[in-house]
Amino acid sequence: MTILERIAELSREFGTPDYVLGGGGNTSAKDANSLWVKPSGTALPSMTADSFLKMDRSAIARLYAVEPPVDVNEREAMVGRMLAEAKCNLSDAGRPSVETPLHNAFSATFVVHVHPSFVGGLVCGRNSREVCESLFPDYLYMAYTDPGYMLSMRTREEIQKYNEQHGHEPVAIFMENHGVFVASDTVAGAREVFARIMTVLREQYAEAGVATAIDVGPAPSDDYVASVVEQVRRVCGEEHTAHVEASGPFQVAGGALTPDHVVYMKAYAFEGEPTEESLRAFQHEYGFAPRIVSNGNGVISFGTTENNARLAMELAKDGALVAQLAEAFGGARVMTRAQWSFIDNWEVESYRRKVAAG
Ligand SMILES: [Zn+2]
Repeated sequence: MTILERIAELSREFGTPDYVLGGGGNTSAKDANSLWVKPSGTALPSMTADSFLKMDRSAIARLYAVEPPVDVNEREAMVGRMLAEAKCNLSDAGRPSVETPLHNAFSATFVVHVHPSFVGGLVCGRNSREVCESLFPDYLYMAYTDPGYMLSMRTREEIQKYNEQHGHEPVAIFMENHGVFVASDTVAGAREVFARIMTVLREQYAEAGVATAIDVGPAPSDDYVASVVEQVRRVCGEEHTAHVEASGPFQVAGGALTPDHVVYMKAYAFEGEPTEESLRAFQHEYGFAPRIVSNGNGVISFGTTENNARLAMELAKDGALVAQLAEAFGGARVMTRAQWSFIDNWEVESYRRKVAAG
């Protein structure tokens, strides 16, 4: 099997809903000179050997040396430009993942980055750092960092520090309120690390008596859904409510848990009975129209496309599960306003949403 067939296999294996939702997560393979990375906006389950973008590693490394602009949008625009120029075949369609410099910072052949709900329960737990350090002492734990360039640079520094202390790089990195990176020279090695993580966490959840699936009540009546849609449409507009999905009630998370949740369902669900007044108050408080309305009758998601409405519901359910699992580790720690606003305002993510919607 070629190196690209192997990374495609790993991408599909760890692209299932247990590991990642929507267009989230990314994978790469490398040799001494080249890095093949998943293009932004593509989905792991559909990766094949020829889906990857071939990147020039020395061109990616130039990013580590530049003095980046202070302004976030200018900074990420510069990174986007430099990454586009680092493609070995400039005519290749597709945009390299914003986490490409991070993948390149590992020397291991294969790097798999995903956001499993099981890991979410750990990295979104209030005691995440202490728990990670005691359950997985040989893995690295990183405090929350805004995604994009800053995350790549900070991770690279942490990998170097770890390398100096241990004489080798970490095989896994847990990222607070985000997910996990696994790095290995072999497919079997990557599998083994994931198996260990999932097994240990499964045991922890069992020991804490935390259920690994959420309780969903009976579906709301069509009339009820129609009345909520009508109300939200009146306040938030036709386009926002163009597509709708409904579910029986479940306990939504009390805030943003990871960047993916912010991207697909926004930081907060509207909780309670929607009225013109309460919807306006919500919009005033958070600066966005609710994608999720949740109460004892059910949970209803909204999207400008069918895919967006579906993903909002998927991520709302995932957020509910992550918050439930986090009970094993001190309860859920939600992202701060500065953290979720950064994602909300981020052009790169809106690109991903656009591709995911298409
Ligand atoms: Zn991620």
